[in-house]
Amino acid sequence: MSLESLNQQTTTPTITPPAQGPLRPHTHTYDLMRQCIHCGFCLPTCPTYALLDVEMDSPRGRIYQMQAVAEGRMEISQEFVDHMYCCLGCRACETACPSGVQFGKLIESAREQIQLEAAHMPLFNGTRQAKQEAAEPAGTEDFSLHEYTESSPATESLSERLLRRFFFDLMLPSRLVTSLVFATLKMYQRSGLQSLAHRTGLLDAVNALPTPLRGQLKTPEELMPAASGNLLPQPLPEITPALTRKRYRVGFISGCIMDQIYRDINEATIRVLAANGCEVITPPRQQCCGALHVHAGEAKRGRQLARHNIDVFEPYNCDVIIINSAGCGSNLKEYGHLLRDDPVYAARASAFSSKVKDISEFLVSIDWNREMGTLQRTITYHDACHLFHGQKVKQQPRELLNAIPGLTLVNLKEADWCCGSAGIYNITNQEMASQLLERKMNNIKATGASVVATGNPGCMMQIALGAKQRGIELEVVHPIQLLDEAYQVGELYEVPAHDTQVARRRQRTLATSIGIGLLMALLLARRHKKKDRESSSKRENS
Ligand code: SF4
Ligand code: SF4
Repeated sequence: MSLESLNQQTTTPTITPPAQGPLRPHTHTYDLMRQCIHCGFCLPTCPTYALLDVEMDSPRGRIYQMQAVAEGRMEISQEFVDHMYCCLGCRACETACPSGVQFGKLIESAREQIQLEAAHMPLFNGTRQAKQEAAEPAGTEDFSLHEYTESSPATESLSERLLRRFFFDLMLPSRLVTSLVFATLKMYQRSGLQSLAHRTGLLDAVNALPTPLRGQLKTPEELMPAASGNLLPQPLPEITPALTRKRYRVGFISGCIMDQIYRDINEATIRVLAANGCEVITPPRQQCCGALHVHAGEAKRGRQLARHNIDVFEPYNCDVIIINSAGCGSNLKEYGHLLRDDPVYAARASAFSSKVKDISEFLVSIDWNREMGTLQRTITYHDACHLFHGQKVKQQPRELLNAIPGLTLVNLKEADWCCGSAGIYNITNQEMASQLLERKMNNIKATGASVVATGNPGCMMQIALGAKQRGIELEVVHPIQLLDEAYQVGELYEVPAHDTQVARRRQRTLATSIGIGLLMALLLARRHKKKDRESSSKRENS
């Protein structure tokens, strides 16, 4: 659908706007979208517009569509759903907008509206990929999804619906379920099964099976870095005392996936905070912050998680609440907006949000400890979208990195251009994400740096995947890991060895034994079954 054809419908509202949800006339969201003056300044900064050259996949085009739905000129069709979920939510358009349009809030509201309708969407039999293949004539471009000319009703497959419910309702809100999922992953990695699956082509074979996830498994599998920490990590210590004189009492958000995959970054963050006069409080009852939920339109669950975290953190009465993940930080700073209509939580949510700071933002705002050793390394820095565009934290990480003796920070071209990670975008929109990654990797390669620092776990995974796929020797780190290392080299503190090598060796041995045991059991069972079949056929023949 073109912008012109959409404009032709402006005078004839034919569809009843949604009865409930944010995409209705006279709502806060409606006021936000009416701030757009359609100037188009945001278009050159939008990665999806740059790739697809489709107005409906630009910020301006998306706002047109949202307004059309809110005013009853357009229904929530499959086309609308695709344009809304094709957006990265990178918020580069916000930075470019002269009119102050808060696009992040708009896209989250549009997706919330879609998810409110999703329960009533018809199910279709098959995968999204199969649906796209059926919709596009053979030989058409990759992105025919965005070239529909007629609206078709939005649908969802049963497998998509079940996966969504498992991920958002069961896994992320529960530390236990998240831990079990990642323990399985760690066993797969540490037992050698992963390299076996790659070497023997087993992964390709499984990926080609006619399941609902056909063709979709390889990228998420490759995306997972070698997860750090124990198989089933205990919660981080509730109270870590300040290493020097206590100046601040800070709350620490450990994150859900961050704590499972990048436990070492969380540990480094706590050490750095303690070295800067902070007593660090990590409440064991905290839950996922809800960033992935809100980003994907699961706002109801996102609000539940926000309320829970406010309840958990309030009694500790911290001066600041620290986060080291850009996507989570952006969401935590918007709890006030998320719960603005909640009479019990609105004011408490705003108070909570006002305390949230990214770790780099906090350190630069205090008289931070500069007793660092030398790190002789050439590095570059990638701006995570939700840090740069979402939180406007641009200079602070660079300031920290530039202060480390010996470190050479090389400028990265298009440092704030999305790498394609964008929450779960690199899993749900793999083709688009890989094109964005290609652009990012070319720019990284051009710097000649051997290390990339970035403040978001999703970006770390995506860039590490890019390096692996291209066979580039590249270390991907969080800026706080470099600061932590510089403190260690400067002998400000030591990291106990038992946390690292010894414990990991033990776990590797355990995971390998379990893996081999499972494999043997499988082989024996197959052998047994074969023998049974042979003897029964012999009996029949005789
Ligand atoms: S720059 Fe802002 S006002 Fe202009 S079209 Fe984009 S969103 Fe609308
Ligand atoms: S959030 Fe990013 S992808 Fe989405 S419209 Fe804005 S610039 Fe484009």
